[in-house]
Amino acid sequence: MGDLARVPPSERVLLLPHCLRPAAACPGRPGRDGFGCPSDCPVEGCPIRALREEALRLGYKGVCIAPGGALALRFVRETRPKAVVAVACERELAEGREAVARLGEDPPLVVVVPLSRDGCVDTAVDLEAVLSILRVGT
Ligand code: SF4
Repeated sequence: MGDLARVPPSERVLLLPHCLRPAAACPGRPGRDGFGCPSDCPVEGCPIRALREEALRLGYKGVCIAPGGALALRFVRETRPKAVVAVACERELAEGREAVARLGEDPPLVVVVPLSRDGCVDTAVDLEAVLSILRVGT
């Protein structure tokens, strides 16, 4: 984590999988830049909201709630961060690492937090662990 501490938040992005949202209640919609949350979303306790808000409060360059690796990779290509904090399942993690390695010279540092419950719908992650990582060096 020492490497992440050397990258200022303004040079980091956060990638979240859209499967983390509470599927039955979530009013968000997929869009070109990932899943979009309405500003007046009434759902309490959504991990995506907690993580996105904290990343933006810390000054992260961007947050992408991605339905899959292709969109996440395009977001990284377009935002060109020096570091990526990503929450992902094992499969996406393996694919994502390969894709980031192919980004060319000077690929970003990637810090991954695996899902604590995967399965593509209503997944879970250790929220405190991700929040601690987001705050490293800030
Ligand atoms: S904050 Fe959570 S529940 Fe609300 S729209 Fe975003 S992902 Fe869905």
